[in-house]
Amino acid sequence: MEEALRRAQKMDAIGQLSGGIAHDFNNQLGIVIGYLDILKNDAGIDDRSGKWIDTATRATLRCMDLTRQLLAFSRKKGLEKDIVDLNAVLEDLETMVSRSVTPEIEVQYFLADELWQTEINAGEFQDAILNLVINARDAMPGGGKLLIETTNRWLDADYAAINPETTAGDYVELMISDTGTGMDGETLERVFEPFFTTKPEGRGTGLGMAMVYGFARRYGGNVKVYSEVGVGTTVRMYLPRATGEAHAGSSDMVERGELPG
Ligand code: ADP
Repeated sequence: MEEALRRAQKMDAIGQLSGGIAHDFNNQLGIVIGYLDILKNDAGIDDRSGKWIDTATRATLRCMDLTRQLLAFSRKKGLEKDIVDLNAVLEDLETMVSRSVTPEIEVQYFLADELWQTEINAGEFQDAILNLVINARDAMPGGGKLLIETTNRWLDADYAAINPETTAGDYVELMISDTGTGMDGETLERVFEPFFTTKPEGRGTGLGMAMVYGFARRYGGNVKVYSEVGVGTTVRMYLPRATGEAHAGSSDMVERGELPG
């Protein structure tokens, strides 16, 4: 309990600090990218200078990525909520996911029929998924298997517990599982801690899992991580079933013309 409180306070402080500056910083970086783009397209630029501009552009994009993550992480209230069918969001993201992993990684989906709906912001959910996919990719440099699975779950209060007010109930479970390096005890313990990363300088921000955790919490959900060194990692995210809504239905998909087959 004390540990959870300490973590919440730390996340709060970092959230306030970073949210304030990240927004302005991102705007300034946008200006830098804009001018680099103009320079790059200038007729007078030779090959050598062109390469330097490319390097500066990559570094700036990396900074923008970091500020984007800071913003996502420091988001307090969450964005507008929608009734969301997670399967449909995952289907929309399929191309992006396969582009984010290496060709040596085999991605498999097991999406539940009649998945319950959730009440979340779909864009935030997409960010969370991509963070999890990128972590799985980084854990499998030599290739491996990435499973993405959705299931309807009834959870008892102990299992669901994250906020004191969390109750037993219906949750949609999203499981992302990899056959990567796994995590040792210390890493597993600190995995949600903002800025905790084991990745080499310039590769990790340590904000991905903090964002995933913060996202699930804000919508009354939970995240559990299981990992074994040399075997792999499984992340289970639980999001409460939307109240008073019918099951995620084919009607929604028909309307959007996305019914498979
Ligand atoms: P980052 O990816 O920027 O390091 P995260 O918060 O997403 O930040 O992850 C924190 C750390 O947790 C990672 O540096 C890594 O050590 C560990 N980790 C997260 N996901 C996985 C995974 N799927 N397999 C192995 N280690 C992981």
